[in-house]
Amino acid sequence: MRSHGKHRHARRSNGGARIALIVCVIGLAGLAVVGVLLTRGGSVHASVSTRQPVGDTRGTVARTSATTPATTSTPTTVPLPLAGKVIGIDPGHNGRNFSDPTFLNQTVWNGRASESCDTTGTETDGGYTEATYNFSVAELLRTDLIADGATVVMTRDSNTGVGPCIDRRAQILNAANPAVSIDIHADGGPASGRGFTVLEPVDDGVNSTVIASSEEFGADLITAFQQTGMPISTYDGTNGISYRPDLAGLNLTTEPKVLIECGNMRNATDAAMLVSTSFQQAAANAMASAIVSFVHVKQS
Ligand code: ZN
Repeated sequence: MRSHGKHRHARRSNGGARIALIVCVIGLAGLAVVGVLLTRGGSVHASVSTRQPVGDTRGTVARTSATTPATTSTPTTVPLPLAGKVIGIDPGHNGRNFSDPTFLNQTVWNGRASESCDTTGTETDGGYTEATYNFSVAELLRTDLIADGATVVMTRDSNTGVGPCIDRRAQILNAANPAVSIDIHADGGPASGRGFTVLEPVDDGVNSTVIASSEEFGADLITAFQQTGMPISTYDGTNGISYRPDLAGLNLTTEPKVLIECGNMRNATDAAMLVSTSFQQAAANAMASAIVSFVHVKQS
């Protein structure tokens, strides 16, 4: 949308230039008449010197046009791609989950079985935690989505807390009735394995109506995420997809949703990418692109 704004401004500036050119031509025509009347043959030098006021007029026109867009070019004619849409983001784990094992170990229902409330998540060999990565990308994604006109709901608003439990995260997003949601994680796989995987739901009754749409969103996400330079996983799933019946976030969802393992934090090459600000921004941009694509193609 920002690029549209630039284009609009450029067109208006060109219009100002055209106005100035017309003024200039009129001025020249007038001067030519005066020159003919006074000198009958005309003095080029006299014409140039007396054109100066025209130049001043052109400057006035240019300044006027430069200030005009602020009051007249509000970009209301081009709808934002996610205007009116709610989008859910679940940044996996939380920054202080490690500090409260009693909370983490409480039992919750994941839609098919009982399991613990959550885990601490993984980390790189250098000690950069998955919870930090997940939340950083979530914030960048939220910024992208809001710029695209969306209302964003997140399951946690900081990386300095504990929880919520995995079942509660699904409930928070379901309650907002999003067009689509994404669970953001990074994996703790074998050190030799590389790449990202999209985890998709398996029909368990609760999520029956969003299995096909989640798969469509997953396909959009796989396409978009390859633009980050992170390869498709060499060790998990098939062609970047893994169907998972054991995850509360997917078992309990009532909106289209997938979980992305953005890379392998235990692999040195992936880890170097995952901790970088530029990769995190690229990851967020890819997610936003997939969300826009899914919402427009599948739901409009
Ligand atoms: Zn995780």
